[in-house]
Amino acid sequence: GDTGAPRRIKALDPDVVNKIAAGEIIVAPVHALKELMENAVDAGSTSLEVLVKEGGLKLLQITDNGCGIDREDLPILCERFTTSKLQKFEDLQSIATYGFRGEALASISHIAHLTVTTKTANSNCAWRAHYDGGKLVPAKPGQSSDPKPVAGRPGTQITVEDLFYNVPNRRRAFRSASDEYNKIIDMVGRYAVHCSHVAFSCKKHGESTTSIAIQSATSQVDRIRQLHGGSVANELVEFSAADDRYGFKASGMVTNANYSVKKTTLLLFINHRCVESSNIRKAVEQTYAAFLPKSGHPFVYLSLEIDPQRVDVNVHPTKREVNFLNEDEIIQAICEQIRSKLAAVDTSRTFLTQT
Ligand code: ADP
Ligand code: MG
Repeated sequence: GDTGAPRRIKALDPDVVNKIAAGEIIVAPVHALKELMENAVDAGSTSLEVLVKEGGLKLLQITDNGCGIDREDLPILCERFTTSKLQKFEDLQSIATYGFRGEALASISHIAHLTVTTKTANSNCAWRAHYDGGKLVPAKPGQSSDPKPVAGRPGTQITVEDLFYNVPNRRRAFRSASDEYNKIIDMVGRYAVHCSHVAFSCKKHGESTTSIAIQSATSQVDRIRQLHGGSVANELVEFSAADDRYGFKASGMVTNANYSVKKTTLLLFINHRCVESSNIRKAVEQTYAAFLPKSGHPFVYLSLEIDPQRVDVNVHPTKREVNFLNEDEIIQAICEQIRSKLAAVDTSRTFLTQT
């Protein structure tokens, strides 16, 4: 009002706080999927299957063959800040796994209906549990909320239904299920290139053909061939760079000067987490400017491993961006390697045409 008197300050209901936090971490279905894929990889899975209905808004299901979750842990699985990966704040300095804050499943359970079916090697059956608002809930009203024994294979299946059902503004903001599905395919494809010993599949519910089907034995180049086509895969050069002073090593595959498209494709992983970096993108594009026709752009897959003590992964709620020390020096070293590889291919081509 305009009476000049301050409004009284009140604590928000914890349920509201949780929903707000969840909305920051999970902006679109693809963000839930990314968290679930990272959990599956953290669990040592060698196979990940993704099933999607209505762009992930109706159904997002991911089945892995990882270590599973102990039945005893199921009651607290979806509480905020419950994790098997971090114990002290100092552990953030050496965190090697994808997850670390125990927020993903909690967040998802506040804005969707979540079902977990999981079996560890030691258990003789699988257990199924349903969650809402961070807590175990019964499958149907009136039933017990205790996890139930079911038949199942080792590993974990996470089913997310009706994402944003209780955040109507967010739910309405999604215009096109196929846009959301394309983002999901893009993200599965990124991890399928990076996690080169893991099998990946992704399909729409009710359709017999898969959008992505990568076997565990498929080589990294063939993964790129299946996902991005032969025009990319046939022109790839490998590179690597490392410098102990800056605590990093990098490797990857990039297209040579024969390949040129309108937009850069950058698959960037920092410490095995798929991230964005406009600084790296700009530097790479500058490097290619000397080799490609004007407005031509490359395909770049870059895996950068940086000493965890030099990385701050905690700057962004969605963990999309990370900060690290000596960024300029590291980017320069990587681009220098790419430049020398491109120059070498250019020379060999000149030789070929001369002889
Ligand atoms: P974080 O990954 O940050 O620990 P999450 O909320 O994503 O937090 O997951 C909480 C915990 O649930 C994890 O630490 C892990 O112990 C367990 N978990 C989640 N997904 C899986 C999975 N697919 N397989 C095995 N354990 C899992
Ligand atoms: Mg996680």
